[in-house]
Amino acid sequence: MFEKILIANRGEIALRINRAAKEMGIATVAVHSTADAEAMHVRLADESVCIGPPPAAQSYLNIPAIISACEITGADAIHPGYGFLSENAHFADIVKAHGITFIGPQPEHIRLMGDKIAAKKAVKELGIPTVPGSDGAIESDAVAIKFANEIGYPVLVKAAAGGGGRGMKLAHSAAELPLALSAARSEAKAAFGDDAVYLEKYLEKPRHIEIQVIADSHGKVLHLGERDCSLQRRHQKVWEEAPSPALNVPARNEIGKVVTDALKKLGYLGVGTVEFLYDNGKFYFIEMNTRLQVEHPVTELVTGLDLVREQIRIADGSALDFEQDDIVIAGHAIECRINAENAFTFQPSPGRISDFHAPGGLGVRMDSAAYAGYRIPPYYDSLIGKLIVHGKNRNECLMRLRRALDELVVGGIDTTIPLFQEMIKQPDILDGEYDIHWLERFLAYRMTGR
Ligand code: ADP
Repeated sequence: MFEKILIANRGEIALRINRAAKEMGIATVAVHSTADAEAMHVRLADESVCIGPPPAAQSYLNIPAIISACEITGADAIHPGYGFLSENAHFADIVKAHGITFIGPQPEHIRLMGDKIAAKKAVKELGIPTVPGSDGAIESDAVAIKFANEIGYPVLVKAAAGGGGRGMKLAHSAAELPLALSAARSEAKAAFGDDAVYLEKYLEKPRHIEIQVIADSHGKVLHLGERDCSLQRRHQKVWEEAPSPALNVPARNEIGKVVTDALKKLGYLGVGTVEFLYDNGKFYFIEMNTRLQVEHPVTELVTGLDLVREQIRIADGSALDFEQDDIVIAGHAIECRINAENAFTFQPSPGRISDFHAPGGLGVRMDSAAYAGYRIPPYYDSLIGKLIVHGKNRNECLMRLRRALDELVVGGIDTTIPLFQEMIKQPDILDGEYDIHWLERFLAYRMTGR
């Protein structure tokens, strides 16, 4: 087993990884920018190395500095967390070339799934259902119009290099398509340095349902059920739950088998998430994330597994010590992303947290790196914590979540807590009746009364 793991991340996920490593008796190294010298992940790790100034490009994305930190401290593996370098195949290659273990999938699979056009083509060949669309990059307006006529409007223009909902534009008719194409291209170019776009049929009222998979280096590929991440704002997840209120056991087993069969053929290694839109009882692949996800704790609470521990064991060459039939989805879990931003205008709210109290009690988990007196740096994302609640069933989970939200205190800054306190009163939420547009509709109604 590894003796020392370097955690190439910050915030709650750095703490999350630190916790798993500690429980396994593995020493940890934190890396940090000068803006994060006082951060909790730095305080709790065994060692820490400053890797650069505040901008992520010069610190958390600074590959030479991270590799040097590994060499200085003698770390034998790197866990990249999510975001930053976690889906950077070039980084995974370099880590390997330095004789360090990258705790994640094989670089070739990171590369394949990072190109959404190539990914869609590959998974389709492996038997996973995809959204109807242009199965390649769109070269011209004329070609786009031809495809759109075949699949029918509305259509969505999406960036091949996409992520975080950027480079995505909707067109309701041929008249709107050229503008959608050029807007998506320029947004994609600015965000990813790649202006390749493709076309997909726009599904009107789907849910976002994703399947968690886990694969070891001995050929075993299992699924850990689904997460429903339909509650989104600007294509960003806000509230996630497991299991999905829309799936039953046979539907879960069926899609789980399709996904695990496909990833077995691919020779996938590590944890990963296959994301689908679910519409009228049918699944349509949208993308695969080759990393641990922000919302992984809901899966942990319903399966009882520690996904980071499993990632570390898999990277070390150990075999998964359970079978598909051993995985039981028990009860219900919901995660709320607590962001440092206004709950309704979503204006960022960096600054000093004057007061901090995490809720507790049975079935309540708070993953956060915040503390009273902590100053949130303005350079990184706005996530300050995740409140994750488990109950015997969805009802108990909702009741407990409401109680835990009321107990959570974050003083001195604006947070998204009031949004969740309002969401949890809505009949649609209580009934589990929502699609990917529910939250935007709710927010619009709240603002305008319409
Ligand atoms: P990104 O990589 O930018 O996150 P995804 O392909 O994962 O992009 O899509 C993000 C979100 O955008 C989805 O969860 C869904 O809400 C919406 N979306 C994506 N593709 C479609 C589609 N074909 N029809 C309707 N909504 C879509």
